[in-house]
Amino acid sequence: MSRIAYVDGVYRPHREAAVHIEDRGYQFADGVYEVIAVRCGRLVDEQLHLVRLRRSLGELRIEGALADAPLKVVFREVIRRNGIVEGIVYLQITRGAAPRDHGFPKSVRPVTVVTGRRARPPDPKLGRDGVKIITIPDIRWQRCDIKSVALLPNVLGKQQAREQGAYEAWQVDAEGRITEGTSTNAWIVTGDKLVVTRAADHAILNGVTRQALIEIIRREGFGFAERAFTVAEAKAAREAFLTSTTADVLPVVEIDGQPIANGVPGSLSEKLRGAYRAHVTESA
Ligand code: PMP
Repeated sequence: MSRIAYVDGVYRPHREAAVHIEDRGYQFADGVYEVIAVRCGRLVDEQLHLVRLRRSLGELRIEGALADAPLKVVFREVIRRNGIVEGIVYLQITRGAAPRDHGFPKSVRPVTVVTGRRARPPDPKLGRDGVKIITIPDIRWQRCDIKSVALLPNVLGKQQAREQGAYEAWQVDAEGRITEGTSTNAWIVTGDKLVVTRAADHAILNGVTRQALIEIIRREGFGFAERAFTVAEAKAAREAFLTSTTADVLPVVEIDGQPIANGVPGSLSEKLRGAYRAHVTESA
């Protein structure tokens, strides 16, 4: 089955799908995106993604984008046309195509792209063994809460992690506190078994996985605090883990070459991973 993409109102073969060279997403990163997991042919936590999408569009004042109802139809059509059972749907909405000028063009229409990709669920070995991460300075802008396609610091950070044999890089703010990974949210479990993740301020993206996991933590009655933590606190933590749509909940067993606790996935991280995976199955 050949891949099909949705581009600005039309379904096209993936290899021919293209946007205009003056699309503002291409020239200015003037656009937003979402990545939604597909499990058993269904979208996971679709509503949370749509709420975040509207927020991102609003913050960038991108007006006139496709409404939720037609967007949901496109998602389902992309899943169907690509025969996706396990995988992801990628959505990108840019301000549109117009002669290059920094200010908003007077008459411009947002351009929507939706692609789908088959992909196996996250490798269970990563969940069993845990992953290594490094820490790097956070060099991003002050509105990381907006899911914009401007991801160059994240790209450089992820590449640095890979070159150092790590799965992810946790970014560190000027006060020495961890903000988040380059494409994941960061969590620790303290010595007294408190699950901690940074509050959803402007320094992080409020992950949909993060939101779903907080619900689970509250429902299950685990101790929980939304606050920033330092690199030193993370290295001395009882457990650490990361979350994202494509990674689920992954235990972190090493930070900057230093093992976390005894260097194997923590029991609370494993419990939360199991509970989150059950939620994914339910949601789909
Ligand atoms: N932070 C950043 C910077 C990200 O890019 C992502 C993934 N989009 C996340 C966190 C995790 O978000 P989600 O759980 O919605 O995938």
